[in-house]
Amino acid sequence: MIIDAHCDVLWKLLNDRSISFYNKDSRLHVNYPNMIKGKVDLQVFAIYIPPSIKTSKFKVAIQSIDDFYQMIIRQKNHLKLATTYQEIETFIGQGKKVALLSIEGAEVIEGDLAKLRTFYRLGVRAMGLTWNQANEVADGVMEQRGGGLTSFGQEVVKEMNRLGMMIDVSHLSERGFWDVIERSEKPILASHSNTKKVCNHPRNLTDGQIKAIIKQGGMIGVTFVREFTSTKKEPTIDDLLLHIDHIATLGGIEQIGLGSDFDGAIPIKGLENAGKLDNLVNALLKHFDQKHVEGILKENWLRYYKKVLR
Ligand SMILES: [Zn+2]
Repeated sequence: MIIDAHCDVLWKLLNDRSISFYNKDSRLHVNYPNMIKGKVDLQVFAIYIPPSIKTSKFKVAIQSIDDFYQMIIRQKNHLKLATTYQEIETFIGQGKKVALLSIEGAEVIEGDLAKLRTFYRLGVRAMGLTWNQANEVADGVMEQRGGGLTSFGQEVVKEMNRLGMMIDVSHLSERGFWDVIERSEKPILASHSNTKKVCNHPRNLTDGQIKAIIKQGGMIGVTFVREFTSTKKEPTIDDLLLHIDHIATLGGIEQIGLGSDFDGAIPIKGLENAGKLDNLVNALLKHFDQKHVEGILKENWLRYYKKVLR
């Protein structure tokens, strides 16, 4: 019933080998029991390597992908990794839980297209071009100079388009965003960002950015991160609905999905973990008609995946 376009479970697993994805372990927002309880059909798992890692980020990312295969896919065979739209459709049709792999921050490709293609061959189907800082591809939102795509970044966009890899602009500088809009031949996504109009945070999108994504057929995954939802001390689901409503007002009701950022940040009240997604479903049903709710929860992402993946 639900697709979630962003979580950082893999980073937690990499850091603490005592955590198990298949146990009821409160250290994880997204674990298998919570996926069942929250009716999550498809979870995107991001490979995130923070700036504190000073050794080869490529190497650590490879370790994280191996963790994903060993600790999530291989251990119980309850989740299936999809690499094509057809696989997503087939696995969901079989009642299986589906995983997609993404990268959060292109620093892991270390300025090398061969490494980008290697990740693709390992099953990665989306990549956020930056995290908060600058890398070989572009500047992130927190990089003071606010630069756009580098020449290498332009090649990355072209190669991702060719491969059928989704380009994620969450965390990207605004100038980088407009460079991607100009160059990408395929619709892009912002996997975990809210709206600046409702909550003025650097990680959120301006109305101009939202309209541009809508125009080129892309997707916005609204996120449950406290600071991106409201400046209030304790934001709730009602505050999140304001972002959804605002994107809908700009014409994007069919281009909104969920991108929780579970396990990467502190979520808002009522959505403390994936097991609580029912709270969001009930709140959405009070505000939107059934068809649009289904769109936000799942169908909008599926339509997007069909357009961009092979
Ligand atoms: Zn993030």
